[in-house]
Amino acid sequence: MKKSNRASSNHDFIPETTLRTDLITYLRHNYPSTCRHWFDDIEPLGVVNGVLRLLVQEPVQLRYLQRVCTEQFTEAAQAITGRLLSVRFVGDALESVPSATDSVDSDSLSGEEDGNPLFSDEMLLSPDYSFDNFVVGPGNRLAHAAAVAVADNPGRAYNPIFIHGGVGLGKTHLLQAICQAILKRQPSAKICYTSCSNFIDWYIAGVKAGRMTEFRSRFRSTDLLVIDDIHFLAKREQSQEEFFHTFNALYQSGRQIVLSSDAPPNDIPDLEERLVSRFNCGLVARVDRPCFETRVSILQSKAALQKLELPVEVPAYVAAKVDSNVRELEGALTRVRGFAMASGQPITLQLAKNALTDEPGSGGEASGHPSIQTIIEAVTHYYDIKLTDLLSKRRHKSIALPRQVCMWLARRHTRFSLEEIGGYFGGRDHTTVMHAVRQITSKREQDPALASDVERIERTLLEESEAE
Ligand code: ADP
Ligand code: MG
Repeated sequence: MKKSNRASSNHDFIPETTLRTDLITYLRHNYPSTCRHWFDDIEPLGVVNGVLRLLVQEPVQLRYLQRVCTEQFTEAAQAITGRLLSVRFVGDALESVPSATDSVDSDSLSGEEDGNPLFSDEMLLSPDYSFDNFVVGPGNRLAHAAAVAVADNPGRAYNPIFIHGGVGLGKTHLLQAICQAILKRQPSAKICYTSCSNFIDWYIAGVKAGRMTEFRSRFRSTDLLVIDDIHFLAKREQSQEEFFHTFNALYQSGRQIVLSSDAPPNDIPDLEERLVSRFNCGLVARVDRPCFETRVSILQSKAALQKLELPVEVPAYVAAKVDSNVRELEGALTRVRGFAMASGQPITLQLAKNALTDEPGSGGEASGHPSIQTIIEAVTHYYDIKLTDLLSKRRHKSIALPRQVCMWLARRHTRFSLEEIGGYFGGRDHTTVMHAVRQITSKREQDPALASDVERIERTLLEESEAE
């Protein structure tokens, strides 16, 4: 780790250009998956009273950095300056110059209102998921065009818009892109973007706490309601009822509703007929698997986002090898990058081939690939838990999380089916494994500590399987 000896200065001068470069270099080295090309636009404003302020112009980027990246930037700032600095992302150079009496971790830091635990889990928009970063191809052209139309003309183009398709095909990306495009034009727009599971959880919490008025005003006063994975309403009769009224209230006052699902309205099991017909009354668009050319463009776009240099033949090779969905495609790219980092070599076609040999693996036992056994060992070692606990039915968080991580890794690095993976973990069925995979996928996006835990485990796995 890079440590400079600027620590001796007792005033606050740190040259800002090198500071930015050093910060980014540190982050790229230690948290490669966190880094984005737009980090270059972050402007250090200098250190006042031990607080390094970093200026970020784009509100979505600002909020994302504040919520997800503060710890990593703080670590980086401390490591390169050798001082116990804290980091504050600000949206305006004149904003809250910290004074000596101003506590560093004051509430204004998070930039959000406090004190409403009923809705504490609101989802964060990722700057990655914008229209600019969405690659259009034959499989998603219609859904993309409809999403753009809705963002340009909310409440009037298509209402509701219902985007459905298999996992990892860009539904969440499109939903967030709509939110971001609207916010960009109209920063004060009231947007409610959340997952269907949150909607259900909040509804249950609202009923229990006798706070339904609050729940309803939250959902019915919004200009734009965006609910991801609405198929989770299946079999939830009371939540369906509540959602039906929410839907009507918004729809009747011309406010835009955006929904995604893994199946078209008619195929969602046990969904009330009246909801099916509401969902069908706007525009229903499907996203399909990307074709080869689109996969190549997506890989190029993802690499550019992370400032990762790829020789031209690498995206073509990876796109030919991985054709299931975009998430897997990104996984393959991460794997290639992991290989390059672990071996200290630049990315070449040969390196990509080595990284993805037998990808998708043959039952995970192929050479160069971790077996489920290796994954389990790495996870039990990392979290310091017993194998018997991991394979047991215990649900305590200290065990449940590592178990989910294990399933996620197994899904990503081996070719076992969901059922087979479930079989390894005390005969759990495939929906449990699917749930675990989804949980970790979304937690990784929202919890940098978990993301870096997983990244470390993955790195050991890759190093070990390479050494074999
Ligand atoms: P879904 O919600 O359909 O399961 P996501 O929207 O989470 O899928 O997409 C999975 C990953 O693939 C995300 O990182 C997303 O940015 C990426 N992705 C999917 N489709 C595209 C696309 N057309 N262009 C760029 N990235 C894409
Ligand atoms: Mg999704």
